[in-house]
Formats: sequence, C-alpha cells, structure tokens
Amino acid sequence: MTSSYDAVVFDNDGVLTYPTPRDVLREATVDAFERVGVTDPTSEHVDAIHLHVTPDDLQTAAGAYDLDPAELWRARDEAFAEVQIADMEQGRKPLYEDYDAVRSLDGPRGIVSTNQHATIEAILDHHGIRGDFHTHYGREMVPASLHRKKPESHYLDRALADLDVDPGDALFVGDSESDVLAARNAGTDSAFLWRDHRDGYELDATPDYELDSLHDLVDVA
Ligand SMILES: [Mg+2]
Repeated sequence: MTSSYDAVVFDNDGVLTYPTPRDVLREATVDAFERVGVTDPTSEHVDAIHLHVTPDDLQTAAGAYDLDPAELWRARDEAFAEVQIADMEQGRKPLYEDYDAVRSLDGPRGIVSTNQHATIEAILDHHGIRGDFHTHYGREMVPASLHRKKPESHYLDRALADLDVDPGDALFVGDSESDVLAARNAGTDSAFLWRDHRDGYELDATPDYELDSLHDLVDVA
C-alpha cells in the first residue's frame, strides 16, 4: 500500500526488542558504584541512577560519595551496556515476534533510543538488523546526554535530519510517554504501542495512534 509517512522512526526497548528486566539493571547499577570504589551505596542512591535518571539525580548520587558525576555516569552506562549485551547473548533480549512488520514498511526507518548508543549498536549486530535502519541513535555515555534524551527531541531531530525528512512527514513509534512527548517536541506524529508490559500504564500524553502490534503499522504508516 502507499505510505502516508515518508519515514518511520522507532524506539528500541519495548518496541523492537524486549526490555532488559529492571532487577538486572538495578544489579548493574550497584556494580557501577563498585566500579568507582563505592561498595556500600544506599538503596536511595542506587535508585537515583537506576532508571529515569535526571541530571539532579546524578549530581545527588555522585555528591554523596564525592565522586565526579561524569565518572559515575560512565561506569553506570558501561555496566548497563555490558549486562544488556550479556543478557541478549543468553537469548533474553529477543526481537518481538511482530518485528517483520518493520521490514514490510516502505521508506526509510530509524531508531531513537534512550539506551546507550553502544547497546543499540550491539543489538543491531546481534539480531542482524543493521540493514533495516538508515540511522540510529542512542545516548553517549556522558552526563550531557541526560539533557538530550526523550522527551527532548534532540536525537529524534538528528535522526530526521539524517533521513532527510520533514518532521511533519514522519511517524515515531514508542512504548513510553516520553516517546509521545519527544514526537510532539520534534513535530512528528506518534504511535503508542501497547505491549504486554504496559498493562495498567498511565499514559498522560495523547498519541496520534494507539497500536496493539507492529502489524497495525500497515494501516497507519
Ligand atoms: Mg521503550
């Protein structure tokens, strides 16, 4: 069928691949503290740099142990990348069963993730899907990336520029409120994918489409 969008950009975790379990990532966070010499961080400080981390969270956690925030953040992101890649190599970060729907879309495709860029690179290679995407962005392992991640449009703006598409002619597909907000901030339409892990999720933003499966994309994209 004829595409209504010139390009489609995807979030990765929870959209293309299964997310890594939160408890696995929390262990990696504890490991990150250990890597910078902190063997007994409080659970409050571990939580602070576990998920949904703000620049203030990082500052607080680093300040509590007199650490350089950049050093702590690099350790956290390196530990996250390593554990996710190891998990994937054990078969625990597979592509979703409806992934083939991505390949059936006409037009260029991209990935914009809040995961580490190094993790996205490994995912593309492990699953042999590098050729399915014309551009891909994850975060650099620096504190500044916490100001650029979704809901900010920074990486989505860059992907759209790479794809040479006007934001108004692109669709962004995600499974988080921050994806819907990033799409709005970039000026693209958004599709929210209701995966099983989103049962009961309170979505306070309004996407242009709500999907149950990537197969639903053929009707909108
Ligand atoms: Mg996601």
